[in-house]
Amino acid sequence: MNQFEARATSGVKSLHPYQPGKPIDELQREYGVTDVVKLASNENPLGPSPVVLAALQNEFADLARYPDGNGFELKQALAARHGVDMAQITLGTGSSDPLEFVVRVFVQPGDEVMFSQHAFAMYPIITQAASATAVVTPANDWGHDLDAMRAAITDRTRVIFIANPNNPTGTWLGGEALQAFIADVPERVMVVVDEAYFEFASDPALGAGDYPDATQWLDRFPNLMVTRTFSKAYGLAGLRVGYSLSHPDVANLLNRIRPPFNVNSLALAAACASLDDTDHVRRGVMLNAEQMNVVTTAVKKMGLDFIPSVGNFVCIDVGEDAAVVYDALLYEGVIVRPVANYGMPRHLRVTLGREEENTRFLAALGRALCSSHEILER
Ligand SMILES: *Cc1c(COP(=O)(O)O)cnc(C)c1O
Repeated sequence: MNQFEARATSGVKSLHPYQPGKPIDELQREYGVTDVVKLASNENPLGPSPVVLAALQNEFADLARYPDGNGFELKQALAARHGVDMAQITLGTGSSDPLEFVVRVFVQPGDEVMFSQHAFAMYPIITQAASATAVVTPANDWGHDLDAMRAAITDRTRVIFIANPNNPTGTWLGGEALQAFIADVPERVMVVVDEAYFEFASDPALGAGDYPDATQWLDRFPNLMVTRTFSKAYGLAGLRVGYSLSHPDVANLLNRIRPPFNVNSLALAAACASLDDTDHVRRGVMLNAEQMNVVTTAVKKMGLDFIPSVGNFVCIDVGEDAAVVYDALLYEGVIVRPVANYGMPRHLRVTLGREEENTRFLAALGRALCSSHEILER
């Protein structure tokens, strides 16, 4: 351990940073492949809407100015959209920001933060960075087990993270069960419902009729916080903008540690414009439901299992040699996401792309499975 590491906080010393999906440029550099299909980070394959691009163009003239530190216009639009007060909103550089803020505000070293096995990787990272104790409850059929979570609450529990649906598993909780759970959690514990994939999951075509909108419960539960993002269905992952809704007293605390200009002027303009372009979001959501059907049907035909998902991604069980299959796909110019770091060494998580991208993935997967069997038999 070098002298600087020795001085780092106990949490940071043993912290492993978030592993993002492999960037397209990196694959081109390392493997010499061109024409890369990236299905690794749950981005929107349609990209941002033309309305958003025009709003961005409009913003270029003012780039010398600081953005509106309060994000008034965006907050006003979000308040109207959700029927909440502007004082309940905390804007972030992605929804990752408010997810981190809630831990920094409420969790001291040694306190407990709870989340499920196979839950989104940011939760353990945020917890560890705060030198807090992660309480990881066992999953039930890949999904969050609310009974196990209820049973694991202690006097030291400060925050419970629930991703609905969860990434990478795509599993979701129905409204009745989730609301009953939140009602059982002591009010001194913050419950964070992460709805990064809300727009996809609430599409009845994906088949989750009981999928709830947790923002509807904010009045009932002062300890509830809900996060949303522009990174997924809105196609703005590169601009980094998201937000949380909570009780105004909670938002006030979160906003105290929010860096003053954490949402830049391009992101603010794009987010505002994208909220108005409901047709574009709708197109992406419809494409997603359709392609979920195409991909899972094809995967089934190959004799593979998958975890039913209401996100814009699906985890496919490719067998013991998932790392080999992942690598074989890279050679074909197809980037998916290995999830061994989520305790899922047999699965690959695949983002649903455009039809032609998914077709390429499926063809490459067929070939990769054949060649990985040859490698194992050798
Ligand atoms: C993608 C994702 C997020 C959001 O990330 P941003 O910081 O908003 O880009 C949050 N939670 C989950 C579960 C996700 O998959």
